[in-house]
This record gives sequence, structure tokens and C-alpha cells, in this order.
Amino acid sequence: MHNNNKELTLSAPLSGPVLTLAKVPDPVFASGAMGDGIAIDPLNDTLYSPCEAVVTHVARTGHAITLRADNGAELLLHLGLDTVELQGVGFSMLVKEGARVSNGQPLLRYDLDQVAQQCKSLVSLMILTNSQDFQARPITLKSVKVGDPLLHIVPKLANGVQIDIEVVGIEVQGHIHVAHRGGLHARPAALIRQTAQQFTSKSWLHFAGKSAACDSLIGLMGLAVGEQDEIRVSCQGPDAEAALQALLAALSTALAEDNHAAVPAPIVQRNRPAEAGVLHGVCAAPGLVAGPLFRLNSISLPMDAGNHEPEQQRHALDAARTQVRGEIDTTLAQAKKHKNTDEEAIFAAHLALLEDPALLDAAHQSIDQGIAATHAWSQSIDVQCEVLQQLGSPLLAERANDLRDLKQRVLRALLGETWQYDVPAGAIVAAHELTPSDLLQLSQQGVAGLCMAEGGATSHVAILARGKGLPCMVALGSTLLDQEQGQAVVLDADGGRIELTPNAARLAEVHQAQLDHKQRRALQQAQAHTPALTLDGLHIEVAANVASSAEAADALANGADGVGLLRTEFLFVDRNTAPDEQEQRIAYQAVLDAMGDKSVIIRTIDVGGDKQLDYLPLPDEANPVLGLRGIRLAQVRPELLDQQLRSLLQVSPLSRCRILLPMVTEVDELLHIRQRLDALCGELGLSQRPELGVMIEVPAAALLAEQLAEHADFLSIGTNDLSQYTLAMDRDHAGLASRVDALHPALLRLIAQTCAGAAVHNRWVGVCGALASDPLATPVLIGLGVRELSVSPVQIGEIKDRVRHLDASECRRITQDLLKLSSASAVRHACHQQWPLS
Ligand code: PEP
Ligand code: MG
Repeated sequence: MHNNNKELTLSAPLSGPVLTLAKVPDPVFASGAMGDGIAIDPLNDTLYSPCEAVVTHVARTGHAITLRADNGAELLLHLGLDTVELQGVGFSMLVKEGARVSNGQPLLRYDLDQVAQQCKSLVSLMILTNSQDFQARPITLKSVKVGDPLLHIVPKLANGVQIDIEVVGIEVQGHIHVAHRGGLHARPAALIRQTAQQFTSKSWLHFAGKSAACDSLIGLMGLAVGEQDEIRVSCQGPDAEAALQALLAALSTALAEDNHAAVPAPIVQRNRPAEAGVLHGVCAAPGLVAGPLFRLNSISLPMDAGNHEPEQQRHALDAARTQVRGEIDTTLAQAKKHKNTDEEAIFAAHLALLEDPALLDAAHQSIDQGIAATHAWSQSIDVQCEVLQQLGSPLLAERANDLRDLKQRVLRALLGETWQYDVPAGAIVAAHELTPSDLLQLSQQGVAGLCMAEGGATSHVAILARGKGLPCMVALGSTLLDQEQGQAVVLDADGGRIELTPNAARLAEVHQAQLDHKQRRALQQAQAHTPALTLDGLHIEVAANVASSAEAADALANGADGVGLLRTEFLFVDRNTAPDEQEQRIAYQAVLDAMGDKSVIIRTIDVGGDKQLDYLPLPDEANPVLGLRGIRLAQVRPELLDQQLRSLLQVSPLSRCRILLPMVTEVDELLHIRQRLDALCGELGLSQRPELGVMIEVPAAALLAEQLAEHADFLSIGTNDLSQYTLAMDRDHAGLASRVDALHPALLRLIAQTCAGAAVHNRWVGVCGALASDPLATPVLIGLGVRELSVSPVQIGEIKDRVRHLDASECRRITQDLLKLSSASAVRHACHQQWPLS
């Protein structure tokens, strides 16, 4: 199989499980000393040619053969390990040196049992012996059958670059295997589109005889590229080379969310005995609930007579899309504010779909023929849904749901319908298929569960349901929609079933289970209001991270011992004019008031890097994350920081307000703000000064903790940035997300050093980064000397409960050993062993 005269796809010469060379139990092959290649643990008794080739050498002992492929690649096929010692017994060579062989031609036959008994291992190798000229890329690492595509051979460039780039005029091209789990579905495709849009060059992906421009999400998904499929990327324009490299990198880096959006093991309808009154489906989010069934219907359009004025209809469609864009923007801003990355990724993809040229072109063409905007939009989406559904990929078929979401939203805007369901709290909502926006609305209305006739467990709506803890079932079949409105049902998502005719006893049983669950939560919640002491009596303050006074009130209701971090940059995120001193004072005071008599740590504005504010444009930077961000604002806009400090000094009582400085790297920054605070206190005639703390979120600050603690009242560790700067991994990098793990032993050492430095001056240390909300990390942080954990409001009860089950001295002892481990995953593993999660 030739792609051109240099590249070559080798088919499997044997059937059986595939191994990388590194896993071969032979040091010479495993080290790659013989060349790049792949191994198979064979289950058949014949070795076949992997391509058209000439036999250049046949081992006298009949256990190995060398081929030269037409593109010049030289291949050693070696059957079993140390089989040379069998001196040919059990092998029969079927070809001679110099022979031309075709792809799939039998080369040698062997006696499977005899050879297996006498040699060290049957693991057989296909080695590219001229690896200096070619690169071998595995196509699969799963089990193969003879003839399956196995290894891709591409020539190396003269400079040794591993990716084959041919420069044709101002167009450049490259090939890459797509690493994204499930292939190019909506979120990875959105990432590719976003990457391409950073360049002026035009970019395309080519696969299986089809091409798609990178600016069309629909086009990209329509290629039906699967995981590990090899695709061609081409870019044309002034920055084509840079665009190509960026796209190749984005395509070959799997999204971390593909992993964390893990689907619970699907429980499928097939192979199930029929049960009267029970529908079987797939669990998309676990749970067991009972309640009245509430059916939701989607919009259906009346017949269209046509003959509409195109100009008017285009205008109507544009206006509707603008309205929907605004709604999605609001959802995105909320998701960003609450750091809800799943929600953000899903709705960012919706925004891209709303702009999709393929969808719009089709709709405009219909409009130009006199069709109403409603019908044109609807048809354009229906066609694309069908395309996605016929691609043979369940993952892509489920993305049709995202398109239907946009169809409904734009139709509602076009028809002027208000978009508000009136669903009673506690209901179990049944629909043909729910969309992500339906789900956000329904969860706010307090529904008990969701069930759908169609849909899949990997759909976006399923990811969101899991995130919200809302039991959800999909693929229940159309019988679901024939059920009576208001009928009492049991949704047993854990068991993959919905009971349509539960008797009173069953309903009572499920209600009891729901009640028990609620009670456990309520118990935790009730205990959430008492201080959290470890078994040996150490008090750990569990505070909350909040972004508004409403969230602060929520935190207090949830049992927060205080606010451990108020991110002031989020207080005014929704506006484009800067808040003045008075507005700021009112906002800070509202948070203090919402917290009763508890203290509130207010961080001075932390813009720059990943956080940008419309009303505070900062100069463009080559490396924004390493630029003017956090407290460095004092350097460029000192008047803004003074204004904020003045607002903070006017809250009352000042004793409950603690000020926290972000991104400090040296003591002078702290001393400078101290001076400013003193001066401002003087101007305002204040005798009392609020406590002043320093965030430890760059390694320099952790290493200087002792010097900082001399002048600070407390230290608060920002593990999000501390991970980013210690590990040199962008905290927002989709492909690195699973590796930006604050339980990395290097971070633990920095946290230990921070606590030791603070202890010299009797200062307390808190953690306000995301690690504080991870119950697996609670014993480690306590063991390292942290005394305050600032967590997300909903987790206060859970983290306090965790604290109460720990022994601080044991935490200290075990944590010392964790510092010596070699990776974050090793630490996580050890934590699971030492302090299992309940
Ligand atoms: C941190 O970096 O851990 C932190 C709490 O600050 P932010 O996430 O706001 O950067
Ligand atoms: Mg930070």
C-alpha cells in the first residue's frame, strides 16, 4: 500500500497482540539498537509479507528474513526471541533471496507448539533497519490480524525533523496521527479551528479523499477522523509554516478533558430480558430517584409557503443569531467565572457552530430561494445532523445534538418565543433528546432526573449532567415518549433502567433511599457549621473561595469558617467600564456583610495572564503569563492599586478584612504595598491596619517564604499558579491539563518549605488554589503544616468531614515519605492507599 513513492503503510505480518519495542523482553531489540519497529506476540503459524518488496536476505536457520520495500525501507522480520538457537528446527522458509514478494504473501511457516516450547519467547519483530532515513509510526497498539494496517513508514527530512513537511510554493503540508480520544469530534475540532484562526494563512485537513477548511467545525467533524487516523494538514499563506506546526501540535496532543469526561460503563438495552413496565437504556449520570414524569417537546415548524423577501429573512436570521450569541456569551462568562471548564468547552464549541460557514452558506442559499429564515436554518442544521449521523462514528453522531441545540435556540429567537420551561421541582424530565442549554435551565429549576429516548453517554448533555450530579439516562427508546404526563416513575440510572409502573412499596423504597442520601448530606451539612478538628485535636479552618457576595452568602450557609479568597477581578467581570472607589467599597462591604462575623480575605486585583478585563486593557505581551500581572500592576498602574486599597480600607469592621497580594516574587513588593497602606491609612485618619498576606504562587515566593513571612501576617498558597510556574506547564493547556497536578512532589516540597519558613515567624499558612478542594490532598496539606483550606463552597461539608477522620501526627509522618516520590501519580497512588476516600 503506497501513499506516494516515499511513504508506506506496512500491514501486519502476523496475527496477535501488538507491543512497542520497549516492551520486548530482549535488551537489544527493546533499546532500539537494531532500529525502530514494532513487535507482535503471534497467535498464527505463518509470517506474511507486510508490503511489496524484494527478499534481500534469508537467515540460514530460517527464523528471520530481510526485505527491501520499494521506497527503500529495509525491514527485518524476526520470528521469536533467541530462535537462532533452534538451528532451523520447526521453521520452513517459503521464499528465496532475490525473490519479489507481494503484500500478504506467505514468507515462512513455523510449528507454533514446537517453537513456543523451545524458545525464550514467541514475540516477533518487524524492525526498520535503516531508521536513520525513515521513521516508523505505529498505527495501532491493539491486537491485529494479518493484513491489518500496522506501521506507517515516512522518510525523515535531512535535518532529522520527524515530521514530513513538503514545501510547495507558499503552501506547506504535513502528516500526523490524530491523538484525540474518539477522533475529531466537537471539542477537539473547535480547538483545531481556534488554532488555525491564530494565523492569517488558510489551513485545511485532508482525510480519506475529503478535505475541510479548518474554519468550519462542521467540515472538520464531517471528515470523520478517528483516533490515531493519519491525516494531511495543508496551510497556505504568509505564516503557513507556523500555522502548520501549531496545527500538527494541536492534532497530536490529546485533550485532557477527553479523559476526565470519562463515561460511566454503559449499561445497554441489548441482551437484557424484557421486564414488564421497565425501559432499559444507558446510564449517562448515576443516581436513583422517583418523581412525576414531565415530557418536554421540541419546536415543530408549520409548512412554509415560500416567497419570502430574502433580504428581510437574512436580516431576521442575523438578528436571531446575534441574540443567541449574546446568550451563549453570558453562559461562557459564568462558566469562566466559576471555573467550570466542561461547560466552557461545550459552549465555546456551540459559539463556533453558530458562526460555521457551512451552516450559514446552506441557510443563505435557501433564503435566496425565498424560503423563510426559520425553515432555512432548520433545514441547514437537519442536513448536517444527517451527515454526522451517517459517518459511522457514535461520538460524531452524538454531536448532532449540539447542532439541534442551536437549531432550537435560533428558532426560538426567530419565533420570539420565550425560552423558559415551567417544570415542577422534583420532576423527572423526559424528552426525545435534551440539549446542553436545556440541561442548564432544568438543573436550575430543581428537577430530580433526566431521561431521553435517544442520546448517548458521551454527549455534552451527559457530561454536564454528571458535573451537576443529576441522574440521567439516555437511549431509552421512543416508548418513553408515549408515557402519560405526571405519571410516577423510578429513574434507576445506576441500574440502567426506568420503572414506569412502580407500586407504592417501590416508590416508598426509592423515596427512602433518596431521603437517606439527603440525610447523609444534611448531617455533613449540619456538622459543617462546627469547627473541623483532626482526631488528635488540630483545628483546620475550612474557608471558601468566592467571586461575589451571593456566593459568600452561599458559603456561609454551607458552613464556611470565612472567605479564604475573594477574587476581586471577577467582581466586575461582566462590565466594560471600571468600577470607581465607591462601587468597589460597596461590593467589598457586601461580601463582608454576607459573612456574618467571619473574616474575609480579599485579594487585590489579579489581571494579566489568563485573566483579561474589558475595562482594563493591558499592553500586548509576548508572554502574558510571565508579564505584567498580579501585584506587578502596581508598577504600571499604581493609581489603580491605590484606588482599590482605599476602597478596602473603608470597609467595616476593618478587623474582619484581610488583604492578600497576588503574584508576589520578592519582599520589596510586599514592603512597598505595606508603605502604601500605611500612607493611605494616614490620609483616611485610620489607626487600625488590616492584616496583609502574601500569595505563594511562584516558586521564588515559596523559596523566600521565611523572608516574606517576616513582613507578612499570613501566607496563602495558590497551587494553580504554583503548579504552572513550577512545572513549566500552562495551567490552561488542554493537552497538559492532566499533568498540571499540584500533588507533584516538587510542589509538595515547595509547600513544605513555605510552611517551614512561615513557622520561623509564627505565621499561619493557607491554601486557596484548587488543591485545597481535592479531598485526596487534605491529609497531605495538613501533614505539610497548612492550617487553612479555602475550598469551593459546595465542598465545605465534605472537606470538614475529611479533616475529622484524619490524625495530624500520622499525616505529618507519612507526608515526609511522599516528598521522596518521583511523580504526581505516585503521590496520588500513595494517598489512595494511605487515606482511602470514602
Ligand atoms: C492560584 O493561582 O492557585 C490562585 C488561587 O489564584 P488564581 O487561580 O486566581 O490565579
Ligand atoms: Mg493565581
